[in-house]
Amino acid sequence: MNIMDPKSLFNKMHLFYGDQNWWPGEGFEIAIGAILTQNTSWKNVEKALKNLSKASLLNPHAILQSKNDFLKEQIKPSGYFNQKSIYLKNLSKLWIENPNPSRKELLAVKGIGAETADSILLYLLNTPEFIIDTYTIRISERIGLGSFQSKSKWKEYFEKKIEKKISIFNEFHALLVIHAKTYCRKTNPLCSSCFLREDCQFGKKNLDSI
Ligand code: SF4
Repeated sequence: MNIMDPKSLFNKMHLFYGDQNWWPGEGFEIAIGAILTQNTSWKNVEKALKNLSKASLLNPHAILQSKNDFLKEQIKPSGYFNQKSIYLKNLSKLWIENPNPSRKELLAVKGIGAETADSILLYLLNTPEFIIDTYTIRISERIGLGSFQSKSKWKEYFEKKIEKKISIFNEFHALLVIHAKTYCRKTNPLCSSCFLREDCQFGKKNLDSI
């Protein structure tokens, strides 16, 4: 079995899937999407973003001035709308004061955790912050890249192992998401047809036992 590292994982996924050119949306809409996508699928986020767009609520001033019930109604399709409406207002408040916040400032906002902050930093503020989500950890652990106790340790690991470049971080995250959704699913991963099976500890074990 070949030894896999983040760089070869990226190259293999990129070769297989091609450029992903993520993240959908532009401007402050990206930050809104990063909050709305917490605990839900992007399909639901799209519905909420469409409502916000129709209601002219895709900017921080409009969100902050909007009536709570009205805002909740618009973002209902993304779930957890009570909390998310508060998070959106918190973020809008910060954005009006400082439209170029640091990671520390973002993390100080209630409702913004590391994954949301890094999505905003990478996709909106063009800062090379590697995003760690459950997809990244699932694939990395199954392949056997390593085993770390926390998301911040995984982040350190990836940022040490790959070139700190916005375009690579951007593509890498998108590739991990697509791979986790198509092959490396939480239950019933499609190891027998996965292009990474020869380099993957979990895939090898899975296939050897068949
Ligand atoms: S071989 Fe299986 S466990 Fe490994 S990356 Fe592919 S789908 Fe995931």
